[in-house]
Amino acid sequence: MTHLRPETRTVHLPQPSVEGSRPITMPIYQTSGFVFDDPAVMGDAFSRPDGPFVYGRYTNPTVRSLEQAVAGLEGGAAAIATGSGMGAINTVLLGLLRPGDHLIAQKALYGGTAAMINDLVARFGVTVTHVPEDDPGALRAAVRPETRLVYLETITNPMGQVADLPAMCAAARELGLTSVVDNTFATPLLCRPFEHGADIVIHSATKYLSGHTDVVGGLAVFADDATYKKVWHYAVELGASADPFAAWLTLRGLQTLGLRMERHCSNARLLATRLAEHPAVSAVHWPGLPSHPSYELAGKLLSDFGGVLAFDLAAGREAGERFMSSLSVALLAPSLGGVETLVMQPATTSHRALSAAELARHGIAEGTVRIAVGIEHPEDLWADISQALT
Ligand code: PLP
Repeated sequence: MTHLRPETRTVHLPQPSVEGSRPITMPIYQTSGFVFDDPAVMGDAFSRPDGPFVYGRYTNPTVRSLEQAVAGLEGGAAAIATGSGMGAINTVLLGLLRPGDHLIAQKALYGGTAAMINDLVARFGVTVTHVPEDDPGALRAAVRPETRLVYLETITNPMGQVADLPAMCAAARELGLTSVVDNTFATPLLCRPFEHGADIVIHSATKYLSGHTDVVGGLAVFADDATYKKVWHYAVELGASADPFAAWLTLRGLQTLGLRMERHCSNARLLATRLAEHPAVSAVHWPGLPSHPSYELAGKLLSDFGGVLAFDLAAGREAGERFMSSLSVALLAPSLGGVETLVMQPATTSHRALSAAELARHGIAEGTVRIAVGIEHPEDLWADISQALT
């Protein structure tokens, strides 16, 4: 299947081999364990990820189908599906870091990841240095003998900064460091970080991969089999495994990923362009606009610019609150990547733990509103947004 384009591969997902015929879609194997005839085969199955299915926490045929599908889409060797995106991040960071290790992470990170890294620092004696996502010189300068990992996000939340993956991953490789890239916002339809030198790719499958706001899930995808096997042993111990039904819902969502991403991106373009011309709006943050600091890099790295945008209301936090409560098509809700358009104010929700100075460092103003653009008709979305702005 390697010659097929991602839009075709998402439709034709990996299936278990069954003699004679097979179901068109992947069944849900809703079982916690598997029966063996031979005790030796059962014993062997416990020790490796590529043996027979043995126990639900290790993996399961439905979960394996999702793992193979996303590994294939990203161009990786193998994947581990987890119960959430944070489960995948924890599995990778705890699986690869030891007390005393040093981690280099980009400055603007998803809030949950930033909190997790702070916890690693406080509880496990891991140290961290934050560098800009597009500055390989700063990465090189931050390296110490005990540095192990570089942690990046393809597109940041909510300001849409794009990481310079080719330069940052090349620097990491030169220095013998493992680079981990959270590709949740881009999906493998817009960017495949392994093609730019990444070693591990993370997804919150809760977002675009499942796409219908009905699943919490995650994946860690590995460029090489050796790292996969090492982290797999840890994942089994950590117990961050994916549930078969959640994996099935994600597989079902994945089949329309290509179509959905096209619409998320084209809707975001229309809203970003019109918001930028609106008198109540002082700035729009979407990497597809020439005014965005990542515009040039995004044009080289991404096949489109994503479905999340943020904008600043000149009149501040209260104006943002009034705007959000005046909407009727777009919903005031957390998360992103589903078919519905969702809005929220980062300063009072996802980034509320940040001080005023930290918010300013991230470029987030009191009146910044994030729109996770859905797949509704773009003119219905704009009608809703423009009446709420008025
Ligand atoms: N990575 C990014 C970029 C996210 O936006 C999120 C959640 O919003 C996560 C990871 C965590 O995913 P989950 O909520 O599925 O644990």
